[in-house]
Amino acid sequence: MTSSDLTMSHKTPFLTHEVHNVPEPMPAYNAWTSDLALREAVTREGGAWAEASLTRYGALAGCELMELGRLANENRPKLRSFDRYGRRLDEVEFHPAYHEVMRQAMKHGVHSFSWRHEDQVGAHVARAGLVYLGAQPEAGTSCPLTMTHAAIPSLRQAPELAAAWIPRILSTEYDPRMLPMAQKTAVTIGMGMTEKQGGSDVRSNTTRAHRQADGSYELVGHKFFFSAPMCDAHLVLAQAEGGLSCFLMPRLLPDGTRNAVHIQRLKDKLGDWSNASSEVEFLGATAYLVGPEGRGVATILEMVALTRLDCILGSAALMRQATVQALHHTAQRSAFGRKLVDQPLMRNVLADLALESEAAVALAMRVARAVDASPRDPQEAALARLITAVGKYWVCKRTPTLINEAQECLGGIGYVEENILPRLYRQAPLNSIWEGSGNVQCLDVLRTLHKEPQARDALFAELASATGQHAAFDQHLGRLQQAFADPSTLEVRSRRVVEHMALALQAAILIKAGNPAVSDAFCASRLGGDHGLVLGTLGAQVPLTALITRATPC
Ligand SMILES: Cc1cc2nc3c(=O)[nH]c(=O)nc-3n(C[C@H](O)[C@H](O)[C@H](O)COP(=O)(O)OP(=O)(O)OC[C@H]3O[C@@H](n4cnc5c(N)ncnc54)[C@H](O)[C@@H]3O)c2cc1C
Repeated sequence: MTSSDLTMSHKTPFLTHEVHNVPEPMPAYNAWTSDLALREAVTREGGAWAEASLTRYGALAGCELMELGRLANENRPKLRSFDRYGRRLDEVEFHPAYHEVMRQAMKHGVHSFSWRHEDQVGAHVARAGLVYLGAQPEAGTSCPLTMTHAAIPSLRQAPELAAAWIPRILSTEYDPRMLPMAQKTAVTIGMGMTEKQGGSDVRSNTTRAHRQADGSYELVGHKFFFSAPMCDAHLVLAQAEGGLSCFLMPRLLPDGTRNAVHIQRLKDKLGDWSNASSEVEFLGATAYLVGPEGRGVATILEMVALTRLDCILGSAALMRQATVQALHHTAQRSAFGRKLVDQPLMRNVLADLALESEAAVALAMRVARAVDASPRDPQEAALARLITAVGKYWVCKRTPTLINEAQECLGGIGYVEENILPRLYRQAPLNSIWEGSGNVQCLDVLRTLHKEPQARDALFAELASATGQHAAFDQHLGRLQQAFADPSTLEVRSRRVVEHMALALQAAILIKAGNPAVSDAFCASRLGGDHGLVLGTLGAQVPLTALITRATPC
C-alpha cells in the first residue's frame, strides 16, 4: 500500500469503492401522527379523545423504542435456576432494554388505559391504538402487557382478590422487584392453560387443585407453555373437586417466600425473543379460586377474549411496521435508473401492502369498538364475540405473507438481521398460533353462530349498512349468506366461510370510511377477483399513487 493509498483510505472508508445508492437509516418519526389509516380508524371507532396520549407514545414508538426493541431481542432472557450455592432461584433475567420497554409501555397505559378510563366511550379503542403503536418497535413485551390488561374481567369474579390486585394492575408504574404483591407499586399478570397433552382442548388439563383449610388451594401438576414467568401472578386452570377451575397463582407468597413453581426450562422459540416462555411444574403451589369451581373455562375465557383482540392488533402492527420499512427503503434505492418506488411493478407491491395493512388496522379497531361497547350494548357484545374470532383468524393469517413481501422490497438486506424485518418475520406466525390457533378460531365462530343467532344478525346488519356502493361487495354479501345454507358441511368449509366473513367486514368498514381509492381497490381485488394469489397483483386501474402516498409516514 502506498502513502497516497493511505491518504485515500482516510477520506473514504473503502479503498475499492464508494458507498452510494443505499438508503439512509430510518429517521425518527411519530408512529401515531404519521399514520393516516390508524388515526382515521381510531377516530371512526371513537378513540380520538386520547389523541394526546397516542401522540406521546407514538413519538416514542418511532424513535427510542426502536433501539430498545433491538437490544431487548438481541439479548435474550436467561433462566437462572439456582444461585451460586445451589439454592433454587427460578428467575428469568432480562436485558435492561426489556425493562425500559415495559416501563414506558406501562407509563403510557398499554396495559391499563381502557380500565382507567372505563367510563369514557372509546377507551378500549384508544388503548388499542397504544397497543398498535407499541407492538411495532417491540412485540415480545406485548405478551405480559396484554395478559395483564386482559386479566381484569376474570379477576373481578373474585372480589377480594380483585380489591387487592386490580389497583396495582392499574398503576402506571413498572415494578419488576421480587416482592409479595402487597409491597409492590405495580404488578403484571400471566396465564397458564396449556399442558403437554393439550392446549386447544384445555378440558384435558390434569393439574390438580386441593382445597386447604384456609380456603386457598394447593396445585400439583405442570404447564407446558407458561409465558412471562416473572409476572407477579398467573391465572391458571386446574382440576378441583367441582371440575376444571380458574385460580390466581402468585409468584411470591405473602410472607415473601417463593411459591412452589419450578421453571423447568425456557422455550427456544422461532421468534418472540425478548419475551420468556417457560415450562413449569407446580409442586403444591398456593393459589386462590377465581369464579366458581367447575367454571374455569368460562372464567378464563373472559381473559382470552381480550388477548385475542390484542393478537389482531399485534399482527396489524407488524404489518404496518413492515410496510413502513418497505416504503422507506424503496423511496431511496434505485435500480435500472429509477427509484424503486417509481417502478410500476414495485408500486403495485407497495400499494397492495398498504391496502392489506389498512384493512387490518380498520378491522382491528372495529373489533376494539365492539369490545368497548359490549357492556352497554347487547348487539355489540354479540358482534364482539363473533368478530374477535373472525379478525384473529384472518389478520393473523395474513401477516407472514405480507411481511415476507415487505422483506423482498428490501432485497437481500431484508433477510439480514441488522434491520427489523427478520425479527418481524419471526414474530409473524405467533399470533395465529397462541390464544387459539386458526382452526380453533373457525370452530369458535361456528359455535357463536350456533349459540347466539343475534351475533349473526348483528354481523349482517353491519354488512348491510355498506351495500349499494360497490357491486363486488353486494355480490360477495349474497354469496356469504348462501354459505350458511348447508349446515352439515359447515365445519369442513369453515376456514373459507370465516375468510369471506372477514373480507366482507373489512370491505364494509372501508366503504363506510368513505375513501373510494381504498375501498374500490379493496373490493375489486379481494372480493371482485381482480387479484392474484400473491400481493402486488392489483389491477392496472387501481390508483397506486394514492394508496402509496396515504401509507407513507408523513
Ligand atoms: C411462544 C408461545 C407462548 C405461549 N404462551 C402460553 C402461555 O403463556 N400460556 C398458555 O396457556 N399457553 C401458551 N401457549 C400455548 C398456545 O396457546 C398453544 O400452543 C395453542 O393454544 C395450541 O395448543 P397446542 O400447542 O396444545 O396444540 P393442539 O391443541 O394440539 O393443536 C394442534 C393443531 O390442531 C388444531 N386443532 C385443535 N383442535 C382441532 C379441531 N377440533 N379441529 C381442527 N383442528 C383442531 C389447532 O388449531 C392446532 O392447529 C404459547 C404458545 C407459544 C407458541
